[in-house]
Amino acid sequence: MRSRALVLGLIVAIGCGRGDRAPDKPPIAIAVDGGTGGTGAAPVDGGALAGPPDAAAPVAIATVDAAVDAPLATIVDWPVPWPAERERLMLAYRRLHSDPAATDLTITPRMIVLHYTGGHSAKGTHGYFSRTRIEAERATLRKGGEAGVVSHFLVDRDGTIFRLIPETRMGRHAIGVNHAAIGVENVGDGDRYPLTDAQVAANVALIRDLAARFPIERVLGHHEVATLRGTPAYVELVRGYKNEKGDPGPRFMAAVRAGLGDSPLAAPPAPP
Ligand SMILES: [Zn+2]
Repeated sequence: MRSRALVLGLIVAIGCGRGDRAPDKPPIAIAVDGGTGGTGAAPVDGGALAGPPDAAAPVAIATVDAAVDAPLATIVDWPVPWPAERERLMLAYRRLHSDPAATDLTITPRMIVLHYTGGHSAKGTHGYFSRTRIEAERATLRKGGEAGVVSHFLVDRDGTIFRLIPETRMGRHAIGVNHAAIGVENVGDGDRYPLTDAQVAANVALIRDLAARFPIERVLGHHEVATLRGTPAYVELVRGYKNEKGDPGPRFMAAVRAGLGDSPLAAPPAPP
């Protein structure tokens, strides 16, 4: 029991993406008014300002024309590898955890879960999410299946939005809601690399864009997913398989919700 608590604590401490270790750099202040751009925040890792982080990766830029009153969200496709083995492992995950009769990974997105990666590099997180199998060190998660973790989107510190897998493919980023949730990772953490105002603005634009294209009912921080336990929105068939997460934290969620203004999606979840 003690060692399990230690493992859980470690997972909380490292966030979701765990793609790298942060060198010592000065923190960047987060905007709490929702932000309107990225003018005040410089990227700390020096990446992704002048194009895709990996020149070898197939990248296409798609501009999504959302609802009339929504801003354009510019999405850069940077897909993670998805070999047949990963498809097979992820289908096994889906059958085990939420949909025993599933024959593919297609989902109808009904919620958006925001995360931070725990690192400072989009490239590092992309590499981590490119793994077909979850690494052996994440013992708690590995009990839930071998499929590698991945979120749908990755937002770099300058606000660049990368799409890693299609919105309607089941990802593995938040226990209990993967059957219906689009995951959005933000490069950074809650301490050494606080999320930037550019990331707040990018998350707001992306949420509006997704809500115009899918029947999105709610937006949650990963740390808020636990509030859904016991409701129909939370589906986990493996008894006792759960974890506690701290990302992206109340400050970031307050900033994103302020940016969403009077949208129904700006409502915080009810207390459990
Ligand atoms: Zn998370």
